[in-house]
Amino acid sequence: MPDIAVRQSIITSAYIHIPFCSHKCEFCDFAAVAGLSHLEDEYTDIICREIEQRVARINSPIKLSTVFFGGGTPGLASPDNLKRIFETLKRVAPIDDSIEFSIETTPHAITEEKAKAWREFGINRISIGIESLQDSELKAIGRDHTRGQALAGLEIASSYFSNINVDFMYALPTQTVESWGKTLEELVSLTKQYPSIKHVSSYCLELAVNSPLLSRFPRASDAYPVDDSVAVLFEMLVETLTNAGFVHYEVSNFALPNFLCEHNLVYWRNKQYLAFGVGAHRYVEGYRSANSKSLKKYMRDCMADEMSEFIDSATEIKEALMLGLRMREGIDVREFEESYGVNIARVFEKQIDKLKSGGFIDFDGQHLRITDAGVLISNLVLTEFM
Ligand code: SF4
Repeated sequence: MPDIAVRQSIITSAYIHIPFCSHKCEFCDFAAVAGLSHLEDEYTDIICREIEQRVARINSPIKLSTVFFGGGTPGLASPDNLKRIFETLKRVAPIDDSIEFSIETTPHAITEEKAKAWREFGINRISIGIESLQDSELKAIGRDHTRGQALAGLEIASSYFSNINVDFMYALPTQTVESWGKTLEELVSLTKQYPSIKHVSSYCLELAVNSPLLSRFPRASDAYPVDDSVAVLFEMLVETLTNAGFVHYEVSNFALPNFLCEHNLVYWRNKQYLAFGVGAHRYVEGYRSANSKSLKKYMRDCMADEMSEFIDSATEIKEALMLGLRMREGIDVREFEESYGVNIARVFEKQIDKLKSGGFIDFDGQHLRITDAGVLISNLVLTEFM
């Protein structure tokens, strides 16, 4: 078996987690905290130290072409702190001139001053968590912004950024086929009004077992769309955005041509990447590891991995297959064999035949991809390959 591709490759991406939020949304299972922004300066010192120490331990060549400030709400942080983190990263890791440099934010954290400052130190892509354009749905999921604030944030962002992603969610409590239809219709109008919207991510609401949202809307509540209509909501999403010229390139992601999210492509192509900050997960030199999800523990010892797992060849192949099939273009079976030494068409012949006869997989002898019908049940389709 040849050397595994990921271990030879240059590291091109870095994720930086900023956990502070104005409010903890009830459905949120991320490493995010509210009411602790007084810790931001100290957190910045710690993450800078983490960047220096971790990068010093890495042997692989690094040239960053994507950097992503995610959260939490990095848009709430002081731009000076974000700049300080980026300057630290620049000092220890070479950065490509044509970097894709993203910041994630809630819409109401966007101000003229901050947008200007973000642009000045190099951020060139903004990802705005709008989630819904219906106030009743925003309230139902416990967001602390309104539709009006979402539109105001978008207006400011569009004056400073020519590459904007907007995030939406579906299968929300109180959401109906009609209300989702209205949101999608308005989203399409917004993409015409603001041509800088180049990318849309839209995820189905998934709740952790102990999610606080379940106390207001228990799983059995009829406020949630039933399973059949979740499929309808997804079909509406795909149809509306593809008709508006967006390419459906990953199960939950759509982009205008040439505006695919390069940072996320690194994850889905199973490449290695750096990650810093509380709860951050990285994939470096054959190891997947993660920092503590507890802010207290992370700030006490930013270098203590909460999890570290060596990815052996069999696991890496499985992961590459799972991630590759999430991409709508699917997997080029010959390229896969060149990278990983495994002919997946042969190894998974039975599964492919079964899924193909059900209409869930397309295989033309070279490209293996999930069909539109398969995408609706992509998790089930992927389990066939486990
Ligand atoms: S704003 Fe985002 S990260 Fe913060 S609590 Fe809400 S969903 Fe979580």
